Amino acid sequence: MSLEGGCACGEIRYRLTAAPMIVHACHCRDCQRLTGSAFALNLWIERKFIEASGGEPVAFRVPPGSSGKPHDVFACGKCSTHLWSKYHAAPGDTVLLRTGTLDDPTAVKPDVHIFTRSKLSWLELPAGARSFETFYKINEVWSPESLARWRQLTGL
Ligand SMILES: [Zn+2]
Ligand SMILES: [Zn+2]
Repeated sequence: MSLEGGCACGEIRYRLTAAPMIVHACHCRDCQRLTGSAFALNLWIERKFIEASGGEPVAFRVPPGSSGKPHDVFACGKCSTHLWSKYHAAPGDTVLLRTGTLDDPTAVKPDVHIFTRSKLSWLELPAGARSFETFYKINEVWSPESLARWRQLTGL
């Protein structure tokens, strides 16, 4: 799989050299605020599988929210597009990349909807969508391939 994307102004480009471990639609309040929208679409991937070029993303810290630990959002310094986030609550060197920054955002679909306790009531999830009030247990949700990557990364 080779997915490419970048920020709105073109200063930062990236290429993913592996498939995501999982794709989240996150309905938590932090994601609603940060995106100014109903939910965020994030693919979860090892940092080493993002090959970025162009400008260096600027990091800024978001105070602890649902996870209880802060996270850093990495954005283009010129156009402010949020490209990916690093959650300090998650072990291993991984990021959650905003799938709306892909050149072809239809290339991935959410595997799970999380933090649906704060989902906007007018939004109906597709029939059969896997959803969780808050978070979930990784070993009950992820594919065996993704779990193998996770174990390699974290030793958990
Ligand atoms: Zn930009
Ligand atoms: Zn969220």
